[in-house]
Amino acid sequence: LHVETQLGEGVAVPIDGNPAHYLISVMRVKPDDIVLLFDGRSGEWAARVRDIRKRDLVLDCVQQTKPPEHVPDFWLCCAPIKKGRIDLIAEKACELGVARLQPVLTRRAVVDKLNLDRLHSHLVEAAEQCGRTALPDLADMVKLDALLKSWPADRHLFFADETGGAALDATLRAHPGPAAFLVGPEGGFDPAERDAIRATPGAVPVSLGPRILRAETAALAATAAWMALNGD
Ligand code: SAH
Repeated sequence: LHVETQLGEGVAVPIDGNPAHYLISVMRVKPDDIVLLFDGRSGEWAARVRDIRKRDLVLDCVQQTKPPEHVPDFWLCCAPIKKGRIDLIAEKACELGVARLQPVLTRRAVVDKLNLDRLHSHLVEAAEQCGRTALPDLADMVKLDALLKSWPADRHLFFADETGGAALDATLRAHPGPAAFLVGPEGGFDPAERDAIRATPGAVPVSLGPRILRAETAALAATAAWMALNGD
């Protein structure tokens, strides 16, 4: 179960709201039962049920059952696309082990605002399902030019370019280390954006094959390819 409380030796964890309802009414936990918790950065902790009241309960951390996990150093930067599809990207990126999900506002994006709370809850659900105890960072949406201007020198920026780019496998093998993939919106990048991306130090245009993929397909195919070579 995901909790906001930072977990640690002897920490008391108050739980209320839906998670409490789930534990009390669905799981029917009793005092002294053990529940596995994660807070997104402290690994996984076994916690013992102490007090159960009508709508809330308190658990006490007793033992770390999984250490803080290593997360592959990969960022997925993608334009906001239609609701259900960006939710799909968030869920699959979490399962695939992405360290950070960075929404990027581009000129042709049909969606110009994101519900980060909704995306965060998809990340939490995906983490619980796939057994990930470290949550991906969900960054605030930034404009493309701001992202490029402040791009970190130590991170490869693989740019999924549907108008053509280097072959995926050879390119990833030639550029080991911290990386990111940048994927455009349904309408793609406009020529000026493409030039700005190509002009960014560390940016490498990459082809994902001869067919035009939907943005969510491109995002997940690129992530899976990188993880196949570098993820663990
Ligand atoms: N404007 C394009 C569609 C964009 S697809 C058109 O209709 O022709 C959305 C995004 O997915 C693109 O911006 C690109 O980042 C990525 N993408 C799709 N197919 C790709 C491919 N074959 N190679 C590399 N990137 C691709």
